[in-house]
Amino acid sequence: MKPTHIEHIGIAVKNLDAAIKYYTEVFGFECYAVEEVKDQKVKTAFFMVGQTKIELLESTDAEGPIGKFLEKKGEGIHHIAFAVKGIEDALAETEAKGIQLIDKTPRKGAEGLDIAFLHPKSTFGVLTELCENKNI
Ligand code: ZN
Repeated sequence: MKPTHIEHIGIAVKNLDAAIKYYTEVFGFECYAVEEVKDQKVKTAFFMVGQTKIELLESTDAEGPIGKFLEKKGEGIHHIAFAVKGIEDALAETEAKGIQLIDKTPRKGAEGLDIAFLHPKSTFGVLTELCENKNI
């Protein structure tokens, strides 16, 4: 597997509007999309920084993954996502190397990307996402 770049960094926030204001006003980034991912019980907001995105994640349900993360760890970096080509093969290769997968097969994430998570137990504590944009 050879990731091409860091696709995005996911950051858990309590209040999406307040966080959008921060990234807009302090850094001058433009929020180009706000999207709810019902499946993940989150509302997301995106900023482009070079070819990497900042993905803000606000929980829409305290029992969802971001709700639980905020309760346990508070706000902060939630995950890092690497862009790969051929996500199915990348997952198989990762599993063959003994890394525990959260998603054995890719699912649809924000922006229509195919995504899959690796378990932080196997990745030195960093929740790691592989993603592939099959629309380009
Ligand atoms: Zn992500």
